Amino acid sequence: MAESILQTRQLTKQYGHALALDHVDMHLEKGQIYGLVGKNGAGKTTILDAICGKNHVSEGKILFFSDKGERDVSRMKEYAISDLGIGRKFQAPSVFTGITIEENMELAVAKRHSLYSTTFRRLSKESREYMNYCLDFIGLSDKRFSYPGSLSHGEKQWLEIGMILASRPKLMLLDEPVAGMGRRETEKTAEMLKNIKKECSIIVVEHDMQFAKEVSDTVTVFHEGEILDEGTMDTVQKNQKVIDVYLGRG
Ligand code: ATP
Repeated sequence: MAESILQTRQLTKQYGHALALDHVDMHLEKGQIYGLVGKNGAGKTTILDAICGKNHVSEGKILFFSDKGERDVSRMKEYAISDLGIGRKFQAPSVFTGITIEENMELAVAKRHSLYSTTFRRLSKESREYMNYCLDFIGLSDKRFSYPGSLSHGEKQWLEIGMILASRPKLMLLDEPVAGMGRRETEKTAEMLKNIKKECSIIVVEHDMQFAKEVSDTVTVFHEGEILDEGTMDTVQKNQKVIDVYLGRG
């Protein structure tokens, strides 16, 4: 039987009288990519924020399964959740622009080993090798001594994906990673994610339906804080309720 990586139980987030998440039950397995789709305001970002600890939910549990066992992360701090193995990429790239691409990656690797206060040179041979692997994986080895400002929009997104990868997460949360990318960059990103999922499950919020279909093993359609449907993109696209409230718009 497939192993769980994350389960939400009756997850609820209330803003005043409005429910951004309404008793959501999700079950995510290892080695899979989960696409979250839905209209603006459906609750997609709210659930990512809840899983990474940026925002705490009003009710419910978020069970994360790692080599440390089962943990309810719903009330844990962001850094502790990140230490457990959940990495988050926000919509806007958040790389450090005043240091080189390699130094950004060194920081990401060092963070995992709590070496923030020490110098870069202290990275172990193994950590340095893994950092080189990550730089290669995102296709930025040749640009390692350049500054992030010189990168294209897509390359900045890849640098950030590489930095998350460098912390060796078990679950990666991505918010619209291909927004603003051209078709070739989007395709390259899809390839990257499919390679990453072998080691790390992924939840990706996406408005680009073609990309969501390309990468997702399971698509979850959110509507007004609830799950409207779940399954392969082909299946959910045929659901009349999904067509009416989401796909049928405009
Ligand atoms: P989008 O695709 O536009 O990013 P989304 O599916 O990610 O939308 P959320 O951002 O999760 O939707 O918002 C879900 C609901 O919660 C919306 O009705 C939104 O207005 C509300 N909401 C989100 N953040 C807050 C907040 N800080 N205060 C009040 N309401 C909020």
